Amino acid sequence: MGDQLRIACGVFAAINYEDQPVFPYIYWGLRAQNHRGHQSHGFLTYSDGKFHVHRSLDLVPKIKTSAIHEWFGRLPGHVGVGNVRYTTSGKTDEESLIKGTQPVTASKDGLKLAISFNGNVVNTFQLRKEINVEFPGFSYECDADLICYKLLIERLKGHDLASVAKTCMKEVDGAFSVAGVTQDGEFFAFKDPHGIRPLCAGHSKNDSIFAFSSETVSLDINGLERDFELQPGEFVKVSKNGFERQRLVDNGRKAFCAFEFAYFARPDSRFDDKYVYEIREEFGRTLVRENPDVVRNADMILSVPETGDDSALGVHEESGLRWERASRRHRYVTERAFLLLNKDRQSTIDRKINILAPKINGKRVIVTEDSIVRGDTTKVIVEKLRRMGARKVYLFVTFPRIVGPCLYGIDMATYGQLIGSKHKTEEIAEIIKADAVCYQSIEGLVNAIGFTRDQLCLACVTGEYPTPLAQKIADVMKKKFLEGHEETGRLYEIEDAIQSS
Ligand code: SF4
Repeated sequence: MGDQLRIACGVFAAINYEDQPVFPYIYWGLRAQNHRGHQSHGFLTYSDGKFHVHRSLDLVPKIKTSAIHEWFGRLPGHVGVGNVRYTTSGKTDEESLIKGTQPVTASKDGLKLAISFNGNVVNTFQLRKEINVEFPGFSYECDADLICYKLLIERLKGHDLASVAKTCMKEVDGAFSVAGVTQDGEFFAFKDPHGIRPLCAGHSKNDSIFAFSSETVSLDINGLERDFELQPGEFVKVSKNGFERQRLVDNGRKAFCAFEFAYFARPDSRFDDKYVYEIREEFGRTLVRENPDVVRNADMILSVPETGDDSALGVHEESGLRWERASRRHRYVTERAFLLLNKDRQSTIDRKINILAPKINGKRVIVTEDSIVRGDTTKVIVEKLRRMGARKVYLFVTFPRIVGPCLYGIDMATYGQLIGSKHKTEEIAEIIKADAVCYQSIEGLVNAIGFTRDQLCLACVTGEYPTPLAQKIADVMKKKFLEGHEETGRLYEIEDAIQSS
């Protein structure tokens, strides 16, 4: 992957009816999902009416054997929720990041809630106003606070958990996959009515542990079996008898984020019955079928490790071209401080990826990429391949051209930052100095995923947003962008402007 994109969050939550500590399950669940957020992480467990919380910045830490007892002591209880986070909303200074680290809690009049959330709220302005009436002076550092307080306000009216989740589904515009626990240790999860972000459920063979997770890899690492992906608008409560499922809102379509398949999810995660890597291989096969002329004029395939690897195998199988493993990752180079500096991007690629020049010298190379967002890093990769002697560089991009921002939890907030919203495909090839850029078609993507088009969110490649306010906001943003206004990407400001216009 060229551009460093981030998703909002990863959720893992579990209950252990053997009355054993749940913390180790949550810990391993988050370790397996650290790719979904590495700015901060948090654990919250429940015992005897109390929440026990640990929140910190950076990756989920390795725990030394000598410190294990301390961790167990700090996070007791048989039920809990955890989260890894990268902020796509709110402030990014250190203090705000810590404040915005999940799980979040809200309490009043003896009622308490803690939730872990993945997604992005679009009607932030309206929700903030509503919450301020019940909680004067309310301010928030992440969208999870908005959901948590909204749930609590409905609970204070005397409604049960399913009813308050249903109100949330009806009144919150955006993407939200939520797992939570109450002051009585009730354990639950739900998804927005479009099911935009993933959340699956699983259990242990002896029926003592039940869990919710953004991705199946976190069930795997804990030895749990996957049961189901939550449906859009579904609420699930857990008891000793297992999952109690209720479809609370059914608006006739789902809109699962298509980008999860191309980039975010781990290749060994499963959505419904397919592994992500199998879908990525099919992306590669589709690209070959869609670009026969380019394939005829190429000598070999190269992937930029690691997200391009699975599609490279598909390209190889369909075309018969050799997949030359001439690009390798420097495995232990992980200094993110360097990797995040734009001005250091040239050396970033050199430090991350080793390209074996003699293998590509004089060759016409197809390079598989998962997506092009800003285009600047892809350009550096193309330049590097040319420096190494590649005669031709063709890019096979598995995700179609991104033309609009994501308002549902992926770090693409404005039109201006997207090379695909400003330029046509041929112009992009010229800018990044590739001989050709071949994006997968939207039809090809949909068919390879195996969903129907109205089961996917494709907003960033079609401009059609599944939720009404997001569509309005995207339209206003686009108009302003085309008129040359500076974009902030702050949804609450745009929503405020729309509400008061
Ligand atoms: S707009 Fe794009 S990235 Fe965002 S949820 Fe939809 S498909 Fe995913």
